[in-house]
Amino acid sequence: MFESDTRDPLANPSAPPAVSGFDDEEPPSRPRRNPTWNDVPDHQWDDWRWQTQNSVRSVRQLRTLLRFSPEELEALGEIESDFKMAIPPYYFSLIDPDNAADPIRLQSVPSPLESQSDFELEDPLEEDKDSPVPGLTHRYPDRVLMITTPNCSMYCRYCTRKRATLTRGGWEGVSKDDERMIEYVRKNPQIRDVIVSGGDPLTLPLGKLRYYLDNLKEIDHVDVIRIGTRVPVTLPQRLYDQELLDLLAATEKVYIQTHFNHPREITPEAAKVCKSLLRHGMPINNHAVLLKGVNDSLETIRSLLRGLLRIKVRPYYLFHCDPVTGAGHFRTSIWKGMQIMEGLRGHMSGIGIPTYVVDSPQGGGKIPLMPNYLVSMSDDAVILRNYEGMLIRYQAEDKSSTQEATATRGVSGLLQGDKTSLMPEGNERMARRRKLQVLDPGYEAGSCGDAGQPPVEQQRILSLPVMKNGTNGTNGHHAATR
Ligand code: SF4
Repeated sequence: MFESDTRDPLANPSAPPAVSGFDDEEPPSRPRRNPTWNDVPDHQWDDWRWQTQNSVRSVRQLRTLLRFSPEELEALGEIESDFKMAIPPYYFSLIDPDNAADPIRLQSVPSPLESQSDFELEDPLEEDKDSPVPGLTHRYPDRVLMITTPNCSMYCRYCTRKRATLTRGGWEGVSKDDERMIEYVRKNPQIRDVIVSGGDPLTLPLGKLRYYLDNLKEIDHVDVIRIGTRVPVTLPQRLYDQELLDLLAATEKVYIQTHFNHPREITPEAAKVCKSLLRHGMPINNHAVLLKGVNDSLETIRSLLRGLLRIKVRPYYLFHCDPVTGAGHFRTSIWKGMQIMEGLRGHMSGIGIPTYVVDSPQGGGKIPLMPNYLVSMSDDAVILRNYEGMLIRYQAEDKSSTQEATATRGVSGLLQGDKTSLMPEGNERMARRRKLQVLDPGYEAGSCGDAGQPPVEQQRILSLPVMKNGTNGTNGHHAATR
């Protein structure tokens, strides 16, 4: 229903107008409208049907809105014949037309680089090989994925399921198999969690969506129905529809899995519909994808995560970009992801930190990656590293040392129990403690630097075994600084 490649080109043939002030605010940002659509009355702008009908779907339209070289236009023409494009005016308005590397543009506007992707695959996750029924992937023990439509409100250029969504003619349609997918879930009581995906299921006609949701709701062993949708990001107007919200809410088991990648996508419109979904009882989790040029910097990811927390969307996954055909230019190194994760843990609230995952080839599923916090270990203790680089000897069990004293130092000395911690110089936390000590001479500040032993009190606390209640058996300074 969202598909139409026969729209008239937009009426504005002139050079793209300037829209300024794009990265000057913390999300949620202010509403934006590309000047091309300035005269559209609000009631139309806020109507998802108008947005869909006026989506930018052709290179002919694109060239009236953005600047391209003749070579680029030729390459885009070839890409257009193989892959679909759709950008609702709302989402298009988030693009800075003066910036060819704009992160919203990179996600939505085709690039000549799409045809220079040699290493990538059509079905990188081998979903089709784990498909007992057409349209349904059963990979993990208790979860299945149902592909319900090839349509999306906006076609992300890096889409993992490009073979079904963007590729012209790549989707035969599974409507004849809808009942088989539902029946498979019904007959497999180990399935607790059904991911209703696509494409984007919120582009389905309401009657069709109701068919899926009503049937799945009726299956007792299904606890969770996850709707995978980018509509809150790319076409929030769809969720201004109370009938759709009521349908989702009535299903009761629905969680929303959405997909914000950049802080600029967190607009007042997106914030408004996330609030509606939450008010209707649906938790919202975010899947971001790490994309070169879009969000592959610590600063951008931190801003995205803070923005998500502000609108009460839980950052759930940060995916490494899959090796899908035409998306090679979006893929970063793994170290880039690790560098970003290193800058999150300890530096911002844990509720704002997603799990960084690689969805592995050959259907191996999601594999979490994180910096290494376990540095070394012996029979007696482990050496842990915190976000500051502090190395801490941690004895988890209440037992006597089995180590013979050996002349050694560094991490080895820590393992042996010569010291309880090594702290990098210039630690801010310790500086704060020292200030507190000045204010209150009775306050034990602890040590700073790796050269000396911590004061007796800190040694005592850090080397205490963990008690059954999960504490170190003290309510002293250690607990006070957590
Ligand atoms: S919304 Fe999802 S399914 Fe659709 S193109 Fe984007 S990533 Fe692919």
